[in-house]
Amino acid sequence: MLGSLARKLRMYSFDTIYDAKLNDAELIKIAESQNRTLLTSDRELFLRATNKSISAVLIVGDNDAARLAYVFSSLQIAADLNPEKSRCPVCNGLLEGAIKSSLTNVPKTVLERQERFYVCKSCGKVYWRGSHWQRMKSMANIVEKMAQT
Ligand SMILES: [Zn+2]
Repeated sequence: MLGSLARKLRMYSFDTIYDAKLNDAELIKIAESQNRTLLTSDRELFLRATNKSISAVLIVGDNDAARLAYVFSSLQIAADLNPEKSRCPVCNGLLEGAIKSSLTNVPKTVLERQERFYVCKSCGKVYWRGSHWQRMKSMANIVEKMAQT
């Protein structure tokens, strides 16, 4: 249910595990053993985590911007939209700069318009600062303002 939030957190440079197949016990175990913060919209799971002294946030908000603002203000963190730090929204892998001439699965028009490309070290997906990037940047600004209020 929080998949799109997880993808955004990864783009904003947060190391984020998301797998809809994991059950509550598995989520608790991962958060506990890896010292992670558990983000959930399930009150019962939230209480189970906090009872075990696991850092957890009970997500509120009607849309991703509101949810992100809530998470950021709860944890006192901020979005960092920077390809040197961003993670692959698909798999949470780290990105690295790619050599333009070596790219094969990128549309020709994009190759003409963009200079810098990044590739996920884990799954190989290629990224560039296109319209999606611009939307994420605008959203980060909106979220920052919301988190401050
Ligand atoms: Zn990836």
